[in-house]
Order: sequence, then C-alpha cells, then structure tokens
Amino acid sequence: MRILRAAHLGMCFGVRDAIALALEHADAGPLTILGDLVHNPTVLSGLAAKGIVVAQDLADVRTPTLMVTAHGTSERTLAQTRAMGLTVVEATCPLVQVAHRAVAALARDGYHVVIVGQRDHVEVRGLTGDLDRFDVVLEEDDVLALDEHPRIGVAAQTTQAVERVRHLVALIRRRFPQSDVRFCDTVCKPTKNRQSAAVEMARQADVVIVVGGRSSNNTGELVRTCARYCARVHHVQTDADVRPEWFDVAEVVGLTAGTSTPDAVIDAVEARIREIGTHPFQV
Ligand code: SF4
Repeated sequence: MRILRAAHLGMCFGVRDAIALALEHADAGPLTILGDLVHNPTVLSGLAAKGIVVAQDLADVRTPTLMVTAHGTSERTLAQTRAMGLTVVEATCPLVQVAHRAVAALARDGYHVVIVGQRDHVEVRGLTGDLDRFDVVLEEDDVLALDEHPRIGVAAQTTQAVERVRHLVALIRRRFPQSDVRFCDTVCKPTKNRQSAAVEMARQADVVIVVGGRSSNNTGELVRTCARYCARVHHVQTDADVRPEWFDVAEVVGLTAGTSTPDAVIDAVEARIREIGTHPFQV
C-alpha cells in the first residue's frame, strides 16, 4: 500500500501565525479569543491548556485582552472593543484583510454585496459586519432567492471551493442579465493550492483520508472535492478515527488535511495508515 500526500496540505500560514500569537500573549497574561480561532479540537484543547478562553460574544469577555482571530472581524466590532476599554490583539490573516478591502470597495462603488460562504461563519460575520444590506449565498437555491439590484458585487469567504464560487457567480449573472455583476475572487491562495492538490491526489487514489476538525469549513470542502474524484473518502479528526477495513484492496491511499490541522496530527494519521498497511490483520 502506497501513501500519496497531497502536494499542499495542512495548516496555512494565517492559522499558524494566529496560534503563535495567541500562545505568546497567553504567557503575558489572561487572554480571550473572540470566536473560534480554528475548528480543530487538538489545537483548541492546546489553547485551553494554556488558560486561553474562547468567547463567541463580546458581552462574554472577562479578560482585559482580547484577540481577534485569523478570520478577522468588522470595524463595528473593533469600535465596540475599544469602547469597552479592551486591549485588542489582531491576528487577522492578511488574505482575510484582502477580502475585507474587496468588500469595502464593492460597497463604496455602489454594488449590492453578495458573499459566497457560510452565513454564520465568523469570517463571513466579519466581512458583512459593516454593511447595512447584503446577502450570503452557499447553494443554488440561495441565488434563486436573491432580489434584483442594478449592481451586484460578489466576493467569497476565503476558504470556499473556488469551483463552487465560480458556479454561483455564473448563476447570478444568468439570473440577472440586466445587472452589472462584478466578481472579486477572494478565495485565498493556500485554499486554492490545497484544493487543486487534493484533486490531483484523489484522481490517483483508491482511498482518500482527509484530516481535520468536523466543523472546519475548508476540511469539509476538501472532503466534497475529493469525493468527486474518488469513491472511498473518509474524514478523520485524529489517528484514533482511522479504521483498518477502509483499506481493503487499496493500493494507493491519498492523504490531505484542512488549513487548521497541525502537522503532528497529520503525521500521526499517516503513521497509523502505514501501520495498517504493514500489518493489515493485526491492528
Ligand atoms: S485559510 Fe487562507 S485566509 Fe484563512 S487564515 Fe489561512 S491563509 Fe489566511
């Protein structure tokens, strides 16, 4: 059994830097993170072990220092934190800032903003938090529910599958042929790299293992992308989830991981697959 790692996989620089910043500030004093820094249980338990608290709402913050995650937040929320006298540590990923600037430019130029993404995701809440009117779409039905506007500006949550985004933009253009539809492709490069590397890997694999948190958006996108090219795709959070029976008559096992998955977790999953491949009847 051969293991084929995707050429790009696992933790992106934005998440890596944000975790390092959180750990650094936790050493200096009590720290609350606003919203989930990552959707990975291994990373979250490591942060909790350092005494770092996660609050989903500003009203729940009890420490003098607050960290904004790599997913970013709105200017309105930042103004609120300043009014509360909190010290704010900003870990917003530079590529999320690019998306914020794109959305602000669309709104400034008179476009009705439509975000392709998950309505309740912390990044989408940040992207839309300064807008009075906007729409969020994720499925074709969401596009069918949109109202017509003379100018429609589309941007995407940075971790969306770019094919889905382009498909929905094309649908918006077909649905509103009279409208001026401007599209800003804000899906980030690390996400695109992971998605295209996952396709390349899944085409060659008999079984694909995707490592990442159950509630991680980009991990879910990788699972769906791989499933289009390989019939046997399994999503695991850690090596403990890997089942020997998945690898029956498998010659090539593909491996990829979401942008919040630590290297050590990926390596442990790979080691577990290797162990199963070496001793298929003893594990
Ligand atoms: S997924 Fe992309 S935008 Fe999000 S933190 Fe990572 S590099 Fe930044």
